[in-house]
Amino acid sequence: MSKAIELLTRMHAVRSVTIGSRGRSNLTGDVILAVFAQVQHKQPLGMDLLMAKYVHDAPAVDRIIDVMPNWLNDESFRRKDLALALSCIALDVFCDKPVASQKRQLAALWRNHSDQAKRSNRLIKGWQIKIKQLQRDVDICGMQAAEERLLSVINELEVLVINERRRIDEYARSQSLKSVTCPRCSGTGLMQSGKCSSCDGRGLFSPSADNIRQHLRHIGLGRVSDKLWDSELRPWLDNCLSRMHIESNEAVKLLSDKLYKESAS
Ligand SMILES: [Zn+2]
Repeated sequence: MSKAIELLTRMHAVRSVTIGSRGRSNLTGDVILAVFAQVQHKQPLGMDLLMAKYVHDAPAVDRIIDVMPNWLNDESFRRKDLALALSCIALDVFCDKPVASQKRQLAALWRNHSDQAKRSNRLIKGWQIKIKQLQRDVDICGMQAAEERLLSVINELEVLVINERRRIDEYARSQSLKSVTCPRCSGTGLMQSGKCSSCDGRGLFSPSADNIRQHLRHIGLGRVSDKLWDSELRPWLDNCLSRMHIESNEAVKLLSDKLYKESAS
């Protein structure tokens, strides 16, 4: 929880937290926690959205998902199931999480362009060169005992290669889930030669409406007709996102006001 406080207070740049000229010079953890609890009580959805977005708080995500079906109560949608699925995707978009196809794209970029991947590839290349040399030695080796020794060294190196590949795949996969920033240009959208071709100069892999529409098909909810998408689903996606931004902004405002008041008292 202390990390959450640090992140949230930093995120909102609540300068009063460290202003020491008057009032309290520092807000203690207890005071900040109490303010969080008050805001959680007054703006539960907004606060949960902030916790989901900035500190990946799983219970907050669960609470949001529980409340989202109620948003559909007053709607007369033909496909409430799709609208509900879309609400969950909107939450991912709000939390800056890429959709599945983008996650795969991101993982491939982490696998090829991150510093870790480059180091791994250098290691693997070194081992592969050694393996080739040893294999040549095996070919010209006349003694069985020596040959067996060489083969066992080759075997050990091959295990190293397999493990290193597995390690970097796992690393790329976990990085792709953490951030939407393009690993190739580090989010700048630029390369030395000009625009970054991996993210098309955008720096980010945040899902577009088209990505989301494809994603609906991807998760087995079927192809969505243009008519249904334009008349019902696309507006609902925008509606969900606006609601999330408004609610979270309200919570930020309340949080900032209360923290400011506490620091000035
Ligand atoms: Zn890029």
